[in-house]
Amino acid sequence: MLSALLNIDCSLNGSRAQGEKLLSDLSTWRIGGPCKYFVQVSDHHQLASSLRHCNEQSMRYIVIGKGSNCLFDDLGFDGCVIRNSIVFLERNEPGLYRAGSGYPFNRLGLQTANEGFSGLEFAAAIPGTVGGATYMNAGANGQETADAVESVEIMTREGECVIFKRSELGFGYRWSSFQDMKELAAITAVTFTLKVSESEKKNQQEYMERRRCSQPLEETSAGSVFRNPEGTDLCAAQLIERAGLKGCRVGGAVISEKHANFFINRGGATSGDMLRLIDLAKEAVWRQFGVELHEEVLYIPP
Ligand SMILES: Cc1cc2nc3c(=O)[nH]c(=O)nc-3n(C[C@H](O)[C@H](O)[C@H](O)COP(=O)(O)OP(=O)(O)OC[C@H]3O[C@@H](n4cnc5c(N)ncnc54)[C@H](O)[C@@H]3O)c2cc1C
Repeated sequence: MLSALLNIDCSLNGSRAQGEKLLSDLSTWRIGGPCKYFVQVSDHHQLASSLRHCNEQSMRYIVIGKGSNCLFDDLGFDGCVIRNSIVFLERNEPGLYRAGSGYPFNRLGLQTANEGFSGLEFAAAIPGTVGGATYMNAGANGQETADAVESVEIMTREGECVIFKRSELGFGYRWSSFQDMKELAAITAVTFTLKVSESEKKNQQEYMERRRCSQPLEETSAGSVFRNPEGTDLCAAQLIERAGLKGCRVGGAVISEKHANFFINRGGATSGDMLRLIDLAKEAVWRQFGVELHEEVLYIPP
């Protein structure tokens, strides 16, 4: 084990590799056992070296941002977890922002609104990275990431850099074509086009206030667990609430009393607790309303 770690460390040109890194430290839900390898990359070279090493060793890998939409397993991950810390921000012309994919999405949302541009106001409340938000097409308050995307730079599994224009990409509700892109290793940078606006700051403050009142932001969660279903006027939170599940608990996992689509780790929740609570909510909503709920959070098998 030690020699394998040293090998990976030598081949990564300064990026960090550590053994026994707990995935609970890498996710906002604070759930997950150890991964076999952990690397934090802060530029293209480190990312390319990590990918090369994983390819040479035929090792599974996953690229993550802030882990704010991931449910890791208590058994951990039998491969390499690559945490993306490619953090930079360029302002190329007014309203045109090129951000490293590890740049905090909430910081970008606040900065662009402060600088008088509209399009990413909603991002201020989303605790992920630019790469994670683009991969998930994160959204809120009637806005989504795709609306502001001009182009996306990726690195392929073979370590090549490719740029896609917006018109070459597909986006939908919490979906992007990156989720089906076999050659994708990681999104490395995203360029956003934003519009000049005078109301963006005020709108942003209103969104944030509304969220503070309606969501348990101070608790340990991964945001909304389920997508809002099609074919009903009720959103996932309303269905779970009407099924009488607010406050329902499995071990350390609890359905928030404040917002029924937020499942909270109240301390010591295991992945098994969270998965059982998710199944319980799905079954209750199906039984009572005939509506099938689908997860927005991504379970990462060991
Ligand atoms: C309190 C709270 C509130 C939230 N509110 C919202 C909300 O309003 N709207 C919303 O849409 N989401 C929300 N979320 C969920 C989450 O923040 C978003 O989905 C976010 O975009 C995930 O970004 P991340 O960097 O944490 O991605 P991660 O959770 O680290 O990863 C998510 C997926 O993206 C992939 N990925 C991440 N980075 C890259 C990359 N650079 N290249 C390729 N693939 C990558 C990962 O492999 C994984 O499959 C919330 C979460 C929390 C905890």
